[in-house]
Amino acid sequence: MADAKGKKQKKNKPTSKKYTKYKIDGDTITREKSCPRCGPGVFLMKTKNRLYCGKCHYTEFIKSEEK
Ligand SMILES: [Zn+2]
Repeated sequence: MADAKGKKQKKNKPTSKKYTKYKIDGDTITREKSCPRCGPGVFLMKTKNRLYCGKCHYTEFIKSEEK
């Protein structure tokens, strides 16, 4: 029970937190995809199998097939 790895509890906050668009996994930084219509700075919301822009309603489907 003594998990002293310094895990911070995640709280559910409202959306549009830009800093959450950068996922840091180990020493790899993954950036979310930005909207091709609105340009960089407007990130696409990621849902189960698609990306969605809340600004221009652009939707892009995520291909689950990997090489
Ligand atoms: Zn857009």
